[in-house]
Amino acid sequence: MSGETDRSRKRVLMLLERLGRLMQSRGHELGLKPVQWEALRYLSRANRFSRTPSGLTAYLGSTKGTVSQTLIALESKGLIRKKSDPGDRRAVRLELTAAGRRALGSDPLLEFAESVGALGKVGEGTLERNLTALLTERLEQIEGRPFGICRTCTHFEKNAPEGKPHRCGLLELPLSADESEQICVEQES
Ligand code: SF4
Repeated sequence: MSGETDRSRKRVLMLLERLGRLMQSRGHELGLKPVQWEALRYLSRANRFSRTPSGLTAYLGSTKGTVSQTLIALESKGLIRKKSDPGDRRAVRLELTAAGRRALGSDPLLEFAESVGALGKVGEGTLERNLTALLTERLEQIEGRPFGICRTCTHFEKNAPEGKPHRCGLLELPLSADESEQICVEQES
């Protein structure tokens, strides 16, 4: 690797780190820890099979202990609730409360949406593609799950006869139009 290539890659990494730091510090100002915001965002985007402590642990790439503390804190603030799974009483399902959904209306990440928009349609598209490629490459290296959108999954059966209107071929369950836009712990592109 040439010296210039090496410097360029380090600059990219420092830019990513700086942006991440800016996003996290705004989160602190609004009274929740960065990981608590991430958990709330995850629960607002994940499908019903993925809104579990283990799904959140895999998404965050964190430890069970950290996730457990995060969930306790969010539950004590009244932002999430735990429910037992009707099909498996030992399993726990997580959901946002009305207060949790309201909190996401003040999500500090929304402040960055304007800055992304300022890049223009082409710049925004290029950034999205490049960040997606970077994330995919890194997840492959560490064997992490992609958590992609359901309708892009290899198991997604669009407008299946026995679906509602779609179907998951892996879990053999119907999927609604809204669920086809959610992220999933089992998603495979
Ligand atoms: S089709 Fe894929 S992404 Fe959708 S629910 Fe099934 S496994 Fe998950």
